[in-house]
Amino acid sequence: MSTHSVTPVRELPFIGGAPREPHSSATFEAVNPANGEILAHVADCDAVDVDRAVSVAGAAQREWMSWDAGRRIAVLLRWADAVEQQRAELGETDTRNMGRVLREALGDGAASARMIRYWAGQVDRMTGHQVPANSGHLSYTTREPLGVIGVIMPWNGPVGSFCSRVAPAIACGNAAVVKPSEMSPLSALRLAALLSEAGAPEGLVNVVTGGGVTGAAVAEHPGIGGVTFTGSVPTGRRIAHAAAETFKKTVLELGGKSPNIVFEDADLDAAGRGALWGVFNNAGQVCVAGTRLLVQRSIAPEFIEQLRRRAARIRVGDPMDPKTHMGPLASQQQFERVSNYLRIARDEGARVLSGGGTPKDTHPEGLFVEPTVLTEVSQSMRVAREEIFGPILSVLVFDDEDEAVALANDVEYGLSANIWTRDLGRMHRMAGLVQAGTIWGNTMRLHHPGLWFGGIKASGQGSAYAEGAIEGSTRVRRVTIRFDEAAPTPAWGDLDGD
Ligand code: NAD
Repeated sequence: MSTHSVTPVRELPFIGGAPREPHSSATFEAVNPANGEILAHVADCDAVDVDRAVSVAGAAQREWMSWDAGRRIAVLLRWADAVEQQRAELGETDTRNMGRVLREALGDGAASARMIRYWAGQVDRMTGHQVPANSGHLSYTTREPLGVIGVIMPWNGPVGSFCSRVAPAIACGNAAVVKPSEMSPLSALRLAALLSEAGAPEGLVNVVTGGGVTGAAVAEHPGIGGVTFTGSVPTGRRIAHAAAETFKKTVLELGGKSPNIVFEDADLDAAGRGALWGVFNNAGQVCVAGTRLLVQRSIAPEFIEQLRRRAARIRVGDPMDPKTHMGPLASQQQFERVSNYLRIARDEGARVLSGGGTPKDTHPEGLFVEPTVLTEVSQSMRVAREEIFGPILSVLVFDDEDEAVALANDVEYGLSANIWTRDLGRMHRMAGLVQAGTIWGNTMRLHHPGLWFGGIKASGQGSAYAEGAIEGSTRVRRVTIRFDEAAPTPAWGDLDGD
């Protein structure tokens, strides 16, 4: 892809409350995938930069935890306000950096502010408990921060990913060293600066930019107490190995191949709209995208035709245009990956019902792919089993509940599943049998920080931002004090000669 010449800015890592000159002069380019424009030359941080960030983060964390909860809550609330006020600039940054359509990216700032406020409300609720196990003794547990948490992020929703991982980490009393994706690093730098301006101790949240080598330096660093990773299964596996060397706690939010299961008795209009949005929103670059449509045979022809009609109306193009539904893929690498899966689908004998090519009237240097519906897909095909992370829907047909469950579970992933039926008995039976960390019935992608979200099977372990994030960001310690001298002791007297 050739590129335009605009005036790219130079972006430095954010360490210790300010942009800092990195250790080496190496950089990488942040590119607008809609037109090939180079937006910035971004520092490619190395292990020395990571080490520096971990060191200042450690000091900032000690200061942060010396503050009363009320003062920490006030910082989080000011940060939430700033994110909300700056949502247009943050949204435009993400749209330019990774192609998410502006009308959606603009919503991320407001949703992120709500997420930060939720976590501000948790700051003084990091409670332990008291256990009445022994008379004359007080036994209690405390929940304490891990220290510095390494946050390693993907590129598909940069503002939301940053706020939803960093807010629980610092609400639980930690500092953070964030490694955004090399494909979309720009908004992370701005979000860390906003937190600093909101009054956080300098170095509480640092951003080291770079690729896998920088990420590995974070995962391996002995000064980091926990890693929250969101990304692909192969990288998650590498991070789990690296973190095991220093016994770091890890939260892994990995990929998916989520089934969208439509029964004949469902509200077919709602299921059709959901199926379409579930796979083509953000050009399919969503971990919980419903990329496998499992449709009951009796309604399959009608439902597939409905999808074809709706998919043809999706407007693909300039993501800055408020009328655009679907923008480009985020990077050249992602474009090649998706194009390769289109070739694989054809080679394996799937039928391209709609899409499959380059949309008309898009920028010649943009990384656009049409929303694509594949039919005549069988379970053995790679497009039915592997995560594509692009706007490709694979349609499979089933006869009954047993077959739907078997197809739904016959992949390595277990992130989420969507079930559409008006029969409540069937809904609950399916919810019990389909293997996924989150099940949505007659809806999809409804998130709330108070509700569990996390994968099972190869889709990961733990939860980075929802209900379970406290577990991933803290550890528990126990204290037992014998306060009554008349209380019995363990049998230590047996060894002193009496
Ligand atoms: P990726 O695994 O390629 O990269 C993720 C991050 O890991 C990047 O910041 C990258 O630089 C870093 N990295 C790469 N190699 C590393 C190493 N050896 N050690 C440490 N860090 C390393 O994933 P991606 O392509 O950026 O994101 C897409 C994937 O993320 C998809 O599989 C998607 O399903 C998943 N995802 C999951 C969730 C979830 O909540 N479960 C959310 C969003 C995305």
